[in-house]
Amino acid sequence: MIPVAKPYLPSREKLNSYIDGIYDRAWLTNNGQLVQELTRRLEEYLEVENLLLVANGTLALQIAYRALGISGTSNKTEAITTPFTFVATASSLKWEGIDPVFSDIDETTWCLDPSLIEQEITSRTKAIVPVHVFGNACDIEAIDFIAQRHDLKVVYDASHAFGVKYRGKSILRYGDAATLSFHATKLFHTGEGGAIIFKRKEDLERAKKMINFGITGPETIEELGINAKLSELHAAIGLSVLDEIDNNIYARNKVADFYRQQLSNHYQHQVWNNYATQNNAYIPLVLNTEESTIKLVKYFQAMKITVRRYFYPSLSNIPLVLKNNKKTTISDGIASRIVCLPIYSNLPECTLHEIVKHLLLFDEKE
Ligand SMILES: *Cc1c(COP(=O)(O)O)cnc(C)c1O
Repeated sequence: MIPVAKPYLPSREKLNSYIDGIYDRAWLTNNGQLVQELTRRLEEYLEVENLLLVANGTLALQIAYRALGISGTSNKTEAITTPFTFVATASSLKWEGIDPVFSDIDETTWCLDPSLIEQEITSRTKAIVPVHVFGNACDIEAIDFIAQRHDLKVVYDASHAFGVKYRGKSILRYGDAATLSFHATKLFHTGEGGAIIFKRKEDLERAKKMINFGITGPETIEELGINAKLSELHAAIGLSVLDEIDNNIYARNKVADFYRQQLSNHYQHQVWNNYATQNNAYIPLVLNTEESTIKLVKYFQAMKITVRRYFYPSLSNIPLVLKNNKKTTISDGIASRIVCLPIYSNLPECTLHEIVKHLLLFDEKE
């Protein structure tokens, strides 16, 4: 079966050389040398400051909410977010005792529509949690303007936006914090892992304590904390993947360029923010009806190719856990008609051509 995404596996020799260091030092976790090295290298590669590595992208969101005081207070709070995302954006809020309030997305960019945000703000609203969905930049200026006017924090879930530049600088430098996921299926990964990029140094310092039980010295505990540390073994994978990232990105760009060239007059595509670069993390397309979307998935299944309905369902339709009464018809509509196509660095060229050929045939028939 051809998967929709495949983890990038770095050279074993390279990985072994990092693991040799772990054996020499006999140091496996607690801010070890490789975690420190990966932190520095990522700050340099991404052109950011105040980056904190954590155990996964979900904890990155949770720690960001805590460090910024959005959660962990006794008051009942709300955050405005998008229903068109991976479940962790909203479930991490709920887990932290913050009610996610869904606001609808823009029909073309699939990111939060800023013109709908203000009507959702109440006296309990503390934050906006937008997602740069599939790596596309949100309307950052409009969101920042609303946040400033109402004294709200902004945490960007930038899990898809590794390496994206916005107006010539890293997209991760916008908002009070931006979070990344380094899950195996992401563009850059550490097996499991994640990071938070804080705007302010003092928030970084607070979060550093929080990810290690609040411990600040052998006999001092200064914060309510949890364990969200990244291990040396995960950092070793991350460093090996980062050493080869240019090759990975080059290969993915070739796949993405071919899809884009061939499919530009077929299906509906995400309209990219003019000020943002592309990182080709995902290849999403939208069909005309849900019926043909289901048909397309089955059509490819028969050829042993995974075309995945993603993100589906829209989170405002998930019963019990997240449902609130907000109507988000645009998100519901896009989610019911969207699929993501296979992309990874060693996707065979013949498979890529096969996928495109059948997408064009399918579009003609529908
Ligand atoms: C992957 C992802 C997450 C969660 O990251 P994990 O590292 O798997 O915990 C959160 N938000 C979005 C948008 C994601 O795609």
